[in-house]
Amino acid sequence: MMENHKITRRRFINAASTAAVFNMIGGFSQAFARASDKEQSRKMLLSFYCDDTGPYRAGAEAFEIFLNYCAENGISGESSVILGGAGKSMSRNPTDEEQAYLIQVRRAFKCGIDTHMEIMTHGGLFDFEKNNIPEGAAHEGLWLHEPEVTVEEYQDYFASIIAEGEKAGIQFTGLTWPGCSCEVCTKRYAELRAAGVTEPNPAAWQALLNLTKKGKFRGRTISCFFGSSETNYGIHLKAQDGEHGVYDLMPNAKDNFGIWENDPERVNPDYYITQDGESGIIVDHVRKGAPYCVWYAHWQGLNPINGRGWSAFTTVIERINRHLRDRVVWMRPSEITARYHAAGGWEFLDSI
Ligand SMILES: [Zn+2]
Ligand SMILES: [Zn+2]
Repeated sequence: MMENHKITRRRFINAASTAAVFNMIGGFSQAFARASDKEQSRKMLLSFYCDDTGPYRAGAEAFEIFLNYCAENGISGESSVILGGAGKSMSRNPTDEEQAYLIQVRRAFKCGIDTHMEIMTHGGLFDFEKNNIPEGAAHEGLWLHEPEVTVEEYQDYFASIIAEGEKAGIQFTGLTWPGCSCEVCTKRYAELRAAGVTEPNPAAWQALLNLTKKGKFRGRTISCFFGSSETNYGIHLKAQDGEHGVYDLMPNAKDNFGIWENDPERVNPDYYITQDGESGIIVDHVRKGAPYCVWYAHWQGLNPINGRGWSAFTTVIERINRHLRDRVVWMRPSEITARYHAAGGWEFLDSI
């Protein structure tokens, strides 16, 4: 499952021989090997997913500040949109705060920020006719894993979300799985696991592909966020047809910006990169020659109005600028999938 982060043979030999020479003449092997790597190795992509974004927790202004910051610093990532998060569609008769938020979402893309559906409500399946969440409705995240759901059912539901987005002038770039640890979901996930179901229903990928082919998403490829791992990660093609593709682009760094609990105990900029730039997961991924470092975060902790992780976020950006400017390239997740798909692999990294 893990992507191959192969160091090319030549690069390996170069690093090994310079190391040997400097060992003979006096102990600077590591520093030299690193400098030599630095010249020769390709840049690493940098991106992030921010879950649970919306106008309710910190107001629309928080998202405006966030977007301005991303645009000013040339950083790229994704921030999800949950149009039915309040139990009715934000696109129909929005409040002033919702309207202000939607105005910001419309400018997100040009500020470097993708828009995933997560998915309509982050809770029960939405009734688009009645504009509500029926009592007892199955939760969306779980429903994405239910083996009995058909391509048509997924496609209808996703298309309805996309139609709500269109009403608000919003185009989606991908999909984020809404996690849920409620009693019903926890029990059902355990049943599914016991039955050998540990992945989303493949019909969901197919439905996304069909919609992409109809031009319903912003691009011809879609980035999706389901699982993550610091070590066992990768970009996985889930469905494709020619120039169209659906990808599971797995984050390989965790949330240390306060998580969904907005918990100061879960804020740690050093996890990403230390002040001296010598360690942290971003630095580790660079050193290992990983093609990308994508972290995930949550709006509850990340937002600039009441998020306990915001100052850690800006600290991390400053440290990246100070220490890794020449080693990383920011890229939106949907651009990563687009370029990966067009090149048929990571070879495009050699020319950025
Ligand atoms: Zn979420
Ligand atoms: Zn649930």
